[in-house]
Amino acid sequence: MPADYHTHTPLCLHAEGTPEEFVDAALAAGVTEYGISDHAPQTPEPFDDWRMKLADLPAYQEWIRRAEDHAAGRIPVRCGLECDWLDGCEPWIRELAGMHDWDYLIGSVHYLGAWDFDNPGKIGLWDSKSVPDVWEAYWNAYAAMAASGLFDIVGHPDLVKKFGHIPEGDLARYYEPAIDAIAAAGCAIEINTAGWHKPIGETYPAPGFLELACSAGIPIVISSDAHAPAEVGRDFAKAKSVIRAAGYRETLLFEKRARRSEPFD
Ligand code: ZN
Ligand code: ZN
Ligand code: FE
Ligand code: FE
Repeated sequence: MPADYHTHTPLCLHAEGTPEEFVDAALAAGVTEYGISDHAPQTPEPFDDWRMKLADLPAYQEWIRRAEDHAAGRIPVRCGLECDWLDGCEPWIRELAGMHDWDYLIGSVHYLGAWDFDNPGKIGLWDSKSVPDVWEAYWNAYAAMAASGLFDIVGHPDLVKKFGHIPEGDLARYYEPAIDAIAAAGCAIEINTAGWHKPIGETYPAPGFLELACSAGIPIVISSDAHAPAEVGRDFAKAKSVIRAAGYRETLLFEKRARRSEPFD
């Protein structure tokens, strides 16, 4: 079974569980490594209500330490952050990168300008938007995020479809520039199984994106995006068959921002 590197903690104010429960759940799910990647602090504070504060970083490190204690060598515990890609964020990401000996950093696009388009509380804003325009802005941001070279993994590639907003026609016109940027930067993507539990009812990214990514030589990890212990490693068997069908045979393991690949069968 692959590692699960995309999980959250209650410090982000919309997740639940204890470090001990998450470790037990990772062991029960059979994932090979438990990676913690909570929503990173963002300045200026207060920024929004779904992330840890800068002042929470010591508590985050304490969470990681408790997880390592409870794991007691039974499963490797890795730590990172899920960082937001925002206009002009590069200096802040570099600062965050230096705040701890992270194993990996995940970059995610949740914001277009001031709009966190995947926030269920902001879903009404979609009504005033053109879906193709939102998609174009989203994928431009996504490609810029990958090209920054600041992230080991780029998160939930087509999150913009979360509530079912999808333009007409072949979506490859959106995927291809992002895939070129990801491949050129040498970062990994994730297949994020949480999408199966959202209105879209499909993994992020869609199978069509995965095939193009595999052909472009982009490596992959499987992620649950768990916000509760029961979600760790959720649907990983199904996810393996989806990425296998797209051509993948290996996933990545991360430690101290170095990676190696391992067959997942
Ligand atoms: Zn979250
Ligand atoms: Zn650590
Ligand atoms: Fe996310
Ligand atoms: Fe997440």
